[in-house]
Amino acid sequence: MSQKIAGVKGMNDILPPDIYVWQHVEAVARDVFRRFGYAEIRTPMVEDTALFVRTVGESTDIVGKEMYTFEDKAGRSLSLRPEGTAPAARAYIEHAVYNLEPITRWSYFGPMFRYERMKTGRYRQFFQAGAEAFGVSEPAQDVEVIDLVWQLLKDLELEGVTLHLNSLGDDVCRPEYQKRLVAHFSARASELCADCQVRLQRNPLRIFDCKNPGCQEVAKGAPSVLEFLCAPCRAHFEEVQRKLGLLKLPYRLNPQMVRGLDYYTRTAFEFIAADPSLGTASAVGGGGRYDKLVRSLGGPEIPAVGMALGLDRLCLLVSRSKKSFAPTPDLFVATVEASAQDEASRLVSEFRRIGFWVDFDPRGGSLKSQMKRADKSGARFALVLGAQELSSRTAELKPLRGGEPGRVSFDEIPAALRSGQPKG
Ligand code: AMP
Repeated sequence: MSQKIAGVKGMNDILPPDIYVWQHVEAVARDVFRRFGYAEIRTPMVEDTALFVRTVGESTDIVGKEMYTFEDKAGRSLSLRPEGTAPAARAYIEHAVYNLEPITRWSYFGPMFRYERMKTGRYRQFFQAGAEAFGVSEPAQDVEVIDLVWQLLKDLELEGVTLHLNSLGDDVCRPEYQKRLVAHFSARASELCADCQVRLQRNPLRIFDCKNPGCQEVAKGAPSVLEFLCAPCRAHFEEVQRKLGLLKLPYRLNPQMVRGLDYYTRTAFEFIAADPSLGTASAVGGGGRYDKLVRSLGGPEIPAVGMALGLDRLCLLVSRSKKSFAPTPDLFVATVEASAQDEASRLVSEFRRIGFWVDFDPRGGSLKSQMKRADKSGARFALVLGAQELSSRTAELKPLRGGEPGRVSFDEIPAALRSGQPKG
């Protein structure tokens, strides 16, 4: 026997019945995107490495440590996308969408890749559903994106999720804050890990992302970004909070929440689940405003705000409810004897053509084994065909989940399946 080849570490197969939870979560997300008017985009899974270096930031863990980067045959440096916002902004600029409409609302679904340490809820290929709104600088747009996430979580019937909210300021006020951060961390530099020593030089905000307990301890006493906001950033942030209040959307201020990406300005947020099984992988989604990103990629000055949800984690939480999302056949067709197989398969094909999900065992076999299979399939009805049924074109339609069986002619079967009653 040849040696088995395993899947890549950190990259999961999603098979039935788990896939039904995924399909449910994706359907709910699609419906919420529809209600908010976020049209779907699909961008490639591979981009020029520079796209992420320039936007997510060289000193972030995502770009510095976690990206799957390789050279193609022509020697270009390409990367598997670690996130969806930079590709969306790239496509927005490349197609000059700002010339077509003043506001662009996009959504996306797809796999993202980060070479991370794995645990429950943290993988190397994971899936996100995201939304981006280009063209609006008003705080109401930030709140719309947050409202979208809250509506999605409600439709998934997920409870115990908290919205952490912060403002990261902008080019005007952040430099002063960074100076104060450097002063704070420099005074306790010896307590920081080697990585954070480098971060202190290059990008002190990133120290807040460090999972090292020593660094987290030093970060606890750091000055709050909210105390350094300039007047316009402060006004923006206050308006975001006022509008969240207006829509009765709960939030908790968290000045230490800086997001692990460099492109954010002003509003930043994260949705954190209380479920203990997720541990440190408790963020189910996050986002914020990125008013400088389009410009930094060579586009015009266009404000934007967006979010991304981790579908793997949402599916884990939804599957805790133990609810089944598996769809079931409308009908199981069984045969009494082998000679009925031909005519049965003709009938099965006919029912499928007019839209019913019909389960049928092409192997035939004993009626008992077929009926066992019918029960297991979860079908609503079973139809048992033998020579007599085929000549009279009538058969017993047996409800498999309670109810009285009834004898119906073949012509009546579609109506019976639609009404859910053996007699249509
Ligand atoms: P981020 O923009 O990095 O905060 O990612 C947005 C969301 O994607 C997070 O809140 C997580 O739910 C999810 N996510 C990020 N990284 C991973 C990962 N390695 N595995 C599974 N989900 C992830």
